[in-house]
Amino acid sequence: MKSLNRSIILNKIRTDGPISRADIAKATTLTPPTVSSIVKELIDSGLIAESSQGESSGGRKPTNLIINGRNSYVIGLDVGPKHVNAILTDLNGEILEENQILINPATSNDELLNLLQQTIKRLIKPYKGQEDKIIGIGVGMHGVVDVKKGLSLFAPILQLRNIPIKEYLEKEFGILVKVENDARALALGESWFGNGDGVENSVTINVGSGIGAGIVINGKLFHGENDIGGEIGHMSIDINGPECSCGNNGCLQTLAAGPALAEKARREISKGKKSILKEMVKDNLEEIDGKLIYEAALKGDQLSIDIFKEAGEYLGIGLTNLIHTINPQKIIIGGGVSKAGDLLLDSVKETVKKRGITESAKQTEIVLSHLGDNGTAIGAVTLILVELFSHNSLG
Ligand SMILES: [Zn+2]
Repeated sequence: MKSLNRSIILNKIRTDGPISRADIAKATTLTPPTVSSIVKELIDSGLIAESSQGESSGGRKPTNLIINGRNSYVIGLDVGPKHVNAILTDLNGEILEENQILINPATSNDELLNLLQQTIKRLIKPYKGQEDKIIGIGVGMHGVVDVKKGLSLFAPILQLRNIPIKEYLEKEFGILVKVENDARALALGESWFGNGDGVENSVTINVGSGIGAGIVINGKLFHGENDIGGEIGHMSIDINGPECSCGNNGCLQTLAAGPALAEKARREISKGKKSILKEMVKDNLEEIDGKLIYEAALKGDQLSIDIFKEAGEYLGIGLTNLIHTINPQKIIIGGGVSKAGDLLLDSVKETVKKRGITESAKQTEIVLSHLGDNGTAIGAVTLILVELFSHNSLG
């Protein structure tokens, strides 16, 4: 009960601070003595602090309380198929340190775990002597994740299975570790710090080397029975389409993820299609990637523009399926490919407008993520913040 009250108070200060003890009591229906005693504990532990004086309704001015963001740190890892992006933030999600490291495409389970450990060690080096202020490590892992065990069940592009991320990192660092699928981590980050703030039912889709979605229902992440809820990258779009890393054909990600766009550009140029991409990579077509296609599109390259348009159409079909399945209030698109912005988004929206079965389905709000390259890592940090502010198992 006490720890529940503690997280209720912490969360009130997080969402409504600066706020006075009296206003917390009013808003939470906790008694003023309960609020005072828990607030004292929270101040002693360094999680909150007293700030400016609030407005007085006559008599002594009350003292306001704020989250003491700078006194505790959280680590967030975005583990993609190609690189690890690591950040260290304060409790307000402000990034204080960051680094990025490449993953060897032929990595093993042990090598990957070792890489994560090394990345974290490098990240926290400037905080030597303050390790006790780091309250947890959140990991946004691509592929299918067993959230309870913190186990990566299947990382399809690296072709790895059963990587014990939580167990390994908790043993190495002795702090709480939470592991979640990367798209779900991004969705959680969006619902705390981004475009999903205040939206009860939303879907965040991560379009990068693969495609995944994080589904938020009634403000909470939806996992499904066995943690594959949201694997929309493997939604079948074209039964005769290209083969996918999962073994099926024509999955959404074989048509609209970054590697699919690059492949399409190479194919068309090999067939003789004119494009400035050819000069941009000095005829070395293997060097074409999503970023270059975007640059070429900005310069008016028709092939590149058409590639984003087509990818947007496929994504729009996937999203229409999703709208007809769970009918979210809002869809947020993040990940590397989303950097194409309106080049992609206009075509996504147009497709949903064409295919939605009702007027409200057609009008589903679709926006780009604003969290940027660190979105998934911020989401990984949020995995720990949720523990702290929502049911507070950290003590
Ligand atoms: Zn697939």
